[in-house]
Amino acid sequence: MLPRTLIPLGLVLLAASAGARAAPEALPTLDAGTSLLVVSPHPDDETLCCAGVIQRVLGAGGRVSIVWVTSGDGSALGMLLVEKTLFDAAKMRAYGEERMQEARTATAALGVPAAGQLFLGYPDGGLLELLGEYRTHPYASRYTRTTTVPYADALFPGHPYTGESLAQDLQSVIERVRPTLVLAPSPLDGHDDHRAAGLAMQSLSARTHAQYTMRYWIVHGGEGWPSPRGLLRGVPLVPAPRAAPLHPLPFALLPAEEDRKLAAVRAYRTQLQVMEPFLLSFVRSTELFSVRATGP
Ligand SMILES: [Zn+2]
Repeated sequence: MLPRTLIPLGLVLLAASAGARAAPEALPTLDAGTSLLVVSPHPDDETLCCAGVIQRVLGAGGRVSIVWVTSGDGSALGMLLVEKTLFDAAKMRAYGEERMQEARTATAALGVPAAGQLFLGYPDGGLLELLGEYRTHPYASRYTRTTTVPYADALFPGHPYTGESLAQDLQSVIERVRPTLVLAPSPLDGHDDHRAAGLAMQSLSARTHAQYTMRYWIVHGGEGWPSPRGLLRGVPLVPAPRAAPLHPLPFALLPAEEDRKLAAVRAYRTQLQVMEPFLLSFVRSTELFSVRATGP
């Protein structure tokens, strides 16, 4: 035991050495002043990447909003396996509606209020085209056969499928949510829609001299990742091969946060039928975020 007179000095030294050893944090402090916006290319990405952070922010008294850029209405494989039918345009729109409902259920299980569930309804499988050839003239979804947002429950029904319209709608979401922290997909993600969503947010934050902090995540991280596949509670997520240049940092989940993340993943009934082991392999003891959007 330390002599009484030495205790304060001992505490100071302990605190100093703990500070020197502290690992860098994946995210800024999450508290009642935090307004988190998760940019989710498809219904399910927000849960896979960020369910732990979402719960932590809400638990600290902060606000959480999710913006789904597409409604996941482009999964021909999903239609075939889940609905037992080849797709046609009306069925794909109905499939999009079903996935939007799953997203509401999943994020409600994490504590996100309906006011924080924001759908843009842009074309699944078409976002990268919007940033290129279709910046100003409308893109036609090869699945739903529409050139405008077809969902009555979306924030801006009828908005055209152009890159300019997407950028405007994302800016409207930013103005509505006033985020302090945005979690967006890295443009290094292996899925084109994820890359496009990340690029769109990067260019928006640069153009508007954004005051919020941005962090990046990856869901499609390279062949076989996350490895091993399937549900492994309490095991940390290892960085994806594609994330190597990003040096992502871990955010640790509490066991109860892992439980609710699993409950949220379970709400994605259509997606579990298509790729259950992949989805379950994100229910781990950590989530990974990087300061960098892309490589050096
Ligand atoms: Zn996705």
